[in-house]
Amino acid sequence: MIFPQDLHIHTTYSPGDSAVAMEQTIELIEEVRHAWVIGISDHFEFLVDGLFAEYEAKVRKAGFKLGVEVDGSDWVNEAITYDNLDYFVYHCQDRDSEYRGAEKLLQTDKPVIIAHPNALATDLDRLPPDCLVEINNRYVWRTDWYSYYKPYTDEFRFVIGSDAHQPNWLGQAVARSAAARLGIEEYLLFSE
Ligand SMILES: [Zn+2]
Ligand SMILES: [Zn+2]
Repeated sequence: MIFPQDLHIHTTYSPGDSAVAMEQTIELIEEVRHAWVIGISDHFEFLVDGLFAEYEAKVRKAGFKLGVEVDGSDWVNEAITYDNLDYFVYHCQDRDSEYRGAEKLLQTDKPVIIAHPNALATDLDRLPPDCLVEINNRYVWRTDWYSYYKPYTDEFRFVIGSDAHQPNWLGQAVARSAAARLGIEEYLLFSE
């Protein structure tokens, strides 16, 4: 099965993320093509020291959408200066500053996907309604996801992401099963 989209994928451009396997390259993902719309979202903090231009060029060359995963509000002011990004994936911990960081990212008018919120205890009551809420294939089953998401299924648009760090993680079976149980219809970005 080819998935409609996968916008949460890491590659060897997240060199400080020990879960990324050396085989998880942009070239491999290009070869596998597990989704119709593919976006790469490497960790922003590992890209800022001179890797970003190379990262951008490789992602574009493969025809993928260009994203980054922003680890909280400390990185927001810098992340919003990167005009060429297509979207943000954002770690939103349950703190005032982090919800303000989400607001700030939204002000760019780019899509903001809230990464694995159930694993970070993001309070969906406090999240700006324009944020896209992720059902994450890696983390969804780690908590009582049904109780966490169910009250909000009509309040937000939801996005399914693999959060792949290794070739064998390029899948969405677990997240899709949870989304189906929740009765969520996935929101598709970038579909013409
Ligand atoms: Zn994450
Ligand atoms: Zn991630």
